[in-house]
Amino acid sequence: MLPARFDYIAASSVDEAIAAKAEGGDETRFLAGGQSLLPMMKLRFATPSKLVDINRIAGLDAIEHHNGHLHVGALVRHADIAASAAVSGAVASAAPWISDPLVRNLGTLCGSVAHCDPEGDWNSVLLATGADVIAQGPSGSRSIAIGDFVQDFFTSSLNDDEMVTAVRIPVPSGPSGGSYQKLERKVGDYATVGVAAHLELAADGTISAAGVAMTSVAPINRKATEAEALLVGNAPSAELFAEAGEAAAAAAEPRDDVRGSARWKRQVVAAFTGRALAAAAEQAQG
Ligand SMILES: Cc1cc2nc3c(=O)[nH]c(=O)nc-3n(C[C@H](O)[C@H](O)[C@H](O)COP(=O)(O)OP(=O)(O)OC[C@H]3O[C@@H](n4cnc5c(N)ncnc54)[C@H](O)[C@@H]3O)c2cc1C
Repeated sequence: MLPARFDYIAASSVDEAIAAKAEGGDETRFLAGGQSLLPMMKLRFATPSKLVDINRIAGLDAIEHHNGHLHVGALVRHADIAASAAVSGAVASAAPWISDPLVRNLGTLCGSVAHCDPEGDWNSVLLATGADVIAQGPSGSRSIAIGDFVQDFFTSSLNDDEMVTAVRIPVPSGPSGGSYQKLERKVGDYATVGVAAHLELAADGTISAAGVAMTSVAPINRKATEAEALLVGNAPSAELFAEAGEAAAAAAEPRDDVRGSARWKRQVVAAFTGRALAAAAEQAQG
């Protein structure tokens, strides 16, 4: 199908893009990589009256370390992250798993975050790593913890007149590691099950901070908070990770579908949580 009729402007600055969005309200959409928006428009699931193309705005395509954080700008493509030497842990692990090269070359991490698709991989990685979303509106910029940003199925706490200009991921000063484990039916598919894990270790080798979050097994990307609590303060071990896997599986709410039964998906969550944590611990122990 063809999209419904729409107006189009190519913004040359963040201020111009925000002003155009503020004027049009929720009938106006930002266009980043177009890898979620354009398919939805072609299917007429989305019928915006205007697109504000942000692709020509300078300065939004950087991945850089700043004040103990990794900043990923709004025009950083999935492929840029996969190729970047600046990323590590769960972020580096997840990037090659986003769809296929065509989607990775155009789609952006910030677009994926804003889209809030519970089958999208990035919001789980950001929940596990404790990231913030930087939102800019007509009256300035604010930082939103990813747990507050992800509100519901395809719903975020971004205001209609705000644009995501970057995502900020903390970079631990001590030993840390992370991993993203994804089960897909074939290369390029959305996750049947995905699990992101992030671990930080104290000087005595015990776990000082832990993040575990799941993709495609709940109405939203979901943090496995009980699994995280089990991990903190303990020494990494296969038994501990198996226990955390069971806690994550209990927190999942998978559904039976063509990709498998809910019962089987819970088992995958348990196994993948264990694997992701083992990989994270191995990295942290270096
Ligand atoms: C065939 C296919 C397979 C895919 N497989 C996967 C997969 O396995 N895993 C996965 O995670 N994703 C997958 N995706 C989705 C892909 O990752 C998209 O790139 C991503 O969801 C959206 O990023 P985008 O830059 O393309 O955003 P767009 O499509 O341009 O925009 C998506 C939405 O976010 C809004 N938006 C975009 N940028 C901003 C911003 N800076 N501020 C505020 N709002 C913004 C838009 O207005 C729109 O509503 C797949 C897509 C396709 C087409």
